[in-house]
Amino acid sequence: MEMLRLEDSLDALKGIGQKRLAYFEKLKIFTIEDLLFYAPRDYLDYSQITSIDNLKPGKVTIKASLSQTPKSWRKGRRQMVSAIFEDDSGSVKAIWFNQPYRTKQLELGRVYMISGEYDFKAGSYGLTQPSVERVESERLSTGVVVARYPQTKGLTSRMILSAQKEALEKLSPNIDIYPPQFIKDNHLQKLAKSLHDLHFPKSEKEATSARCRLSFDEVFSLQLAAANSRQKLADEVAPTISFNEPLAKKFVSDLPFRLTDAQRLAAWEILKDISRAQPMNRMLEGKVGSGKTVVAALATLMTASSGHMGIMLAPTTILAEQHFKTLKKLVSGYGLKIALLTRHTPQKEQTKVADAIKKGKVDCLVGTHSLLSEQLEYKNIGLVIIDEQHRFGVKQRTRLRDKSSKELPHVLTMTATPIPRSLALTLYGELDISIIKQLPGGRQPINTEILAWTARSHAYTSLVNSLRTGGQAYIIAPRIEDTDSDMASVRALEKELTRSYLKDVNYAVLHGRLKPELKEKIMQDFFIGKIKVVISTSVIEVGVDNPNAVVMIVESAERFGLAQLHQLRGRVGRGNKAASCFLIASKDNEPSRRLHAMAQTNDGFKLSELDLKIRGAGALYGTRQHGPLDINIADITDKQLLAQVASAVDNFIEKGYDASNYPILYKRLLRASKVTFLN
Ligand code: ADP
Ligand code: MG
Repeated sequence: MEMLRLEDSLDALKGIGQKRLAYFEKLKIFTIEDLLFYAPRDYLDYSQITSIDNLKPGKVTIKASLSQTPKSWRKGRRQMVSAIFEDDSGSVKAIWFNQPYRTKQLELGRVYMISGEYDFKAGSYGLTQPSVERVESERLSTGVVVARYPQTKGLTSRMILSAQKEALEKLSPNIDIYPPQFIKDNHLQKLAKSLHDLHFPKSEKEATSARCRLSFDEVFSLQLAAANSRQKLADEVAPTISFNEPLAKKFVSDLPFRLTDAQRLAAWEILKDISRAQPMNRMLEGKVGSGKTVVAALATLMTASSGHMGIMLAPTTILAEQHFKTLKKLVSGYGLKIALLTRHTPQKEQTKVADAIKKGKVDCLVGTHSLLSEQLEYKNIGLVIIDEQHRFGVKQRTRLRDKSSKELPHVLTMTATPIPRSLALTLYGELDISIIKQLPGGRQPINTEILAWTARSHAYTSLVNSLRTGGQAYIIAPRIEDTDSDMASVRALEKELTRSYLKDVNYAVLHGRLKPELKEKIMQDFFIGKIKVVISTSVIEVGVDNPNAVVMIVESAERFGLAQLHQLRGRVGRGNKAASCFLIASKDNEPSRRLHAMAQTNDGFKLSELDLKIRGAGALYGTRQHGPLDINIADITDKQLLAQVASAVDNFIEKGYDASNYPILYKRLLRASKVTFLN
């Protein structure tokens, strides 16, 4: 018999016709690999056989023979079938609706395995809608642990299982995606067995071992991809930016405040990195207001003092303008030439700046990402600083490569998103990370209250009071438009509030469908106090820092992730006034324990780790910034798993294995490197 390979397409299976193939494709299942790695949602354990006199309500399996010819009748619009089964201990009735074929399937006197729900219905105990298979047949759904898959129209779990069964039978037991020696060295369960046990485990334990091996695979390709990228970067040459100690000391002592310890440590890590001839690839993490910009400014100063240019890229024009002002304040006293280039810059000025850049006369250029796509000619770039942009790939970096010396610039990414350590290790393994955990002193903690829908007037009364004393506020809803559900929307809130709490208040509505220019204008007006309240979707998650914003109300708060809520909460309390955050559950929704966690901690890292545990990496990080993330089974908060994979990656590299000899692994690596930073 011709053996199947994982790469083969699904139509190599006999049991699947054109129509069914289309349904599989909807699930993104195209190959044998896709099919066999399609993970069950959960399992029903039907492996234990109970004698009929011992049946208790719940999921049960019996081994019994049909003792009477099945009866069939209509009940309203339902086609009913009933049958009586018996074993040595007694007899039991089974009922099906809308499965008329049961009358033909069942033969008097034959012994079957029957699994299903045993419960009290229509005046007596019996089996409702059980699965029935002949004892001697290959059983998929009776007397075994049954895997269940996320439902899709047209495909039942049984159809998926039967395709998997056929595939597993035709698959060589020796297939794998790693070199055989590597599997041995790392004590991995064989892939064919793992795939078999994922779908057809004899016990929960077998299922667990299978998932363990497959989790390893998911994390391995991400970590190996990261390690490869790290290596590639280490082979490149970067300009060395020497540490100008007197200048650095002067900068620090000239600041109107004392740097926090966290800022000092981060600055030290960065300055050490850029003094080396390998390109830095570092992320600076810290919530908004933690003082990242000052650290970046110091790095820029060092870059300029060693004769290189620094570029700072911001996600929006307003933020670029803000950075420009801040930087100017911080470093222009040292004779640095700083330039701003955005689409608001007058044409004449643009030409002038472009020319100065080309000649290497600018020390620091601030702008948005469009700086990279425009036809600017750069010279001698030493450092690129990226604020709140999650992707900065090799391509972009190479575009900034010094043409004469072949040097790649150093890159510092700044983000206010707290990224759980486990995720950072997996997804961003190729990055070095500096974290500023503490906020500069003097800020007041934000008062967080979790409210049921019925108590929401409390939040709005508090908002009105804050407006009276000159404060500003945000009101957030998960959706723009009204829906018939109980979920809050920006439009519905606007309609309601302008008649009540926001009567005669200058407010604006903000959401992702507005033109960027309009969004920016609104945020600008909010910043200067012309607009008092912004009713918005979560688009304001990152944005301009308005120290006068003191109230944040989030409606239907359970719809947001904890990390996102934390981010939203971070939009207030930026000045020295006390601030409040109200998280209101949807109508008829009790505030969940997850929501209450928000009031218990202000630690963004704790919250995002918790989020990750509850919702899983795939759900959380799957699409937004990273593209599809191939994590379906693995729990990446599992430290033991991460450690096991890390040492396996070392082993893989040490032994000099070439991933391109292993097609499936190779394909996964390519995908993984699209998710991680450098591609
Ligand atoms: P981030 O870039 O992390 O959002 P910023 O660097 O913009 O934060 O700093 C926010 C505000 O805090 C700025 O006004 C800045 O001058 C001030 N700041 C930064 N570091 C300190 C510090 N160590 N002590 C007091 N204020 C600070
Ligand atoms: Mg900032």
